[in-house]
Amino acid sequence: MTLTSVDVTLVGAGIMSVTLGTLLKQLRPELRVLLLERLPQEAQESSSAWNNAGTGHAGNCELNYTPMAADGSISLAKALDINEAFDLSRQFWTHLVRAGALGSPEAFIQGVPHMSFVLGEERRAYLRERHRLMSAHHCYRGMAYSEERAQVAEWAPLLIEGRDPGATISATRFVGGTDVNFGALTSQLLDHLRSCPPFEARFSTAVKGLQRRQEGGWRLETRDQGTGEPRLIDSGTVFLGAGGGALTLLQKAGIPEGRGYGGFPVSGLWLRCSHPEVASRHRAKVYGMAAAGSPPMSVPHLDTRLVDGRQWLLFGPYAGFSTKFLKSGSLCDWPGSLRPGNLLPQLAVARDNLALTEYLIGQVFASSEERFAALQNFYPNARSSDWSLAVAGQRVQIIKADARRGGVLQFGTEVVHAADTSLVAVLGASPGASAAVAISLEILRSCFREKLPDGWERTLKRILPSYGEAIRLDADLCRRIRSESAEVLRLGMS
Ligand SMILES: Cc1cc2nc3c(=O)[nH]c(=O)nc-3n(C[C@H](O)[C@H](O)[C@H](O)COP(=O)(O)OP(=O)(O)OC[C@H]3O[C@@H](n4cnc5c(N)ncnc54)[C@H](O)[C@@H]3O)c2cc1C
Repeated sequence: MTLTSVDVTLVGAGIMSVTLGTLLKQLRPELRVLLLERLPQEAQESSSAWNNAGTGHAGNCELNYTPMAADGSISLAKALDINEAFDLSRQFWTHLVRAGALGSPEAFIQGVPHMSFVLGEERRAYLRERHRLMSAHHCYRGMAYSEERAQVAEWAPLLIEGRDPGATISATRFVGGTDVNFGALTSQLLDHLRSCPPFEARFSTAVKGLQRRQEGGWRLETRDQGTGEPRLIDSGTVFLGAGGGALTLLQKAGIPEGRGYGGFPVSGLWLRCSHPEVASRHRAKVYGMAAAGSPPMSVPHLDTRLVDGRQWLLFGPYAGFSTKFLKSGSLCDWPGSLRPGNLLPQLAVARDNLALTEYLIGQVFASSEERFAALQNFYPNARSSDWSLAVAGQRVQIIKADARRGGVLQFGTEVVHAADTSLVAVLGASPGASAAVAISLEILRSCFREKLPDGWERTLKRILPSYGEAIRLDADLCRRIRSESAEVLRLGMS
C-alpha cells in the first residue's frame, strides 16, 4: 500500500478547504498540502452554486440576524458580526484578484441589492425600527426603507404586480449586496492552489478512518471510490472541511473534544425559474420573515442568481428531512452517528424544539400547491409553468451537549479542534460559505499559530487591511475597504 506523508491534509473540496488551504499557502508557501475529495470533482456538495442560495451574507437583509427581544429592542450584534466576516471575505478575494491568483471576479461575485420584505402592521413596526437603527450605522449606510407601492415596485416589480392594493407592505433595500457563486469560487481557488507546489488534490478518494500517530499527527486511511484501492496518508495536521461529512469523521477520530456532538440533517428544495423575461425583471435578493418555529436557514427568499453567465430566479428553500449528511451521502448517516454520548442531547433538543419539529413535518408533507402559495406571497403573479423544483444542498445542524438543558441546537458554525491542535473540524452550516475567511482565520489562530513563520499576522494585515480591527467601530476603514473591494471585484456599487 502506498504511503504519502504531508504537512496538512484538507478533507473535502468545498469552499472551506480551499479557503483555508489558500490562506495557509499565502503564509507558508512551502507547506506540503494534500486535498482529498470523495467525489470526482470539487464543489459538488453544499458549495455548488445550485445547492446554496449564493447570498453574500452580510446581515443586510436576513431578519433572523436582527431579532427583537421581549422588551421590543432590536440587537444589531449578530448582523454586524456577519457583516464584518463578509468584509474579510471580500478583502481576501480582492487581494487574490489583484495578485492575479483568481480569474474574472464576475464569474463568482456580482452586485445584487439585498432587500427585506414584510406584510402586516406588526412586521412593519419591526422593519421600520430595524431600518432606523441600521441606517444610522456606517456599516449599513444608505439602506433605504419604504412603505410605498410605487417605490417598492421600482425596486422589485414582481413583489407588487398582482398584489392586493390594500396590503400593508414594507421593505428595505441595500444596494451594496452581492450574489456569490461559491462553486465557481471554489474552482478558481483550487486552480490557484494547483499552481502553488507542493500541493496535490486527489479526487474520488474517500477518507475512511483516522488514527493518531504516536510520533504526532494522524494516519488517514483512504479508499479510491472507483478501484477500491486503499491508501495511507501521514499528516501533521488534518482539517475536516467535509461539510455534512465532518461530524462522521470527527467521530472516527475519537478526540475527546468531539464527544457529545450530534447532527440533525435538514434537506431543502428550491423553485427555480430560468425564463429570461421573468428573471430579467427581478434584480434583488428579497428575504422575508421566518414562519413561527422554522429554523433560521429556512427563511424564504426570492433571489436573483447569476450562474454560468445567465440570470435566474430562485425561491425557497423549503425544508425537508432526510437522514443523509451529504446530498450524495447514505441514509445510514444519521442513525450511524448516534452514540451514547449524543443521544441525550438529541432527545433534549427534540423536547425543547417542538415548534421546529412541527414546522419540518409541515414542510415535508407540503403539497406542490402549498409550496407555490408560499412563492405567491412574494410574487403574486407567478405562473407555475415557469418554475421547476430543484433539490438544494443538505445541512447538518449541530446539536451540542449542554449542562443545563441536556442538549442545544446550534444554528451557527462550530470549530472543534483537538487539544494538541493536530486536527480541526468545521461543523454546522450558517452563515456558511460567506464566512469562510473569518472561519479560516479562527482556525489559523487556534491551530496553526505555532506552525506559521514569525510575522504571519503582519502578512495577513497586508492581505486583509481590516485584520485585527473592528470595521463596525471605524467608519473610514469601512468606507475604504468597501470601495476598494467594490472596484477590484467590479461590483459596480459600494
Ligand atoms: C440550502 C442551502 C442554502 C445555503 N445558502 C447559503 C448562502 O446563501 N450563503 C452562504 O454563504 N452559505 C449558504 N449555505 C451554506 C454553504 O453552502 C456552506 O456553509 C458551505 O458551502 C460549506 O462548505 P464546505 O466546504 O464546508 O462543505 P461542502 O461544500 O459540502 O464540501 C464538503 C466536501 O467534503 C467531501 N467529503 C465529505 N466526506 C468526505 C470524506 N469522508 N472523504 C473525502 N471527502 C469527503 C464532500 O464530498 C464535499 O465535496 C447554504 C447551504 C444550504 C444547504
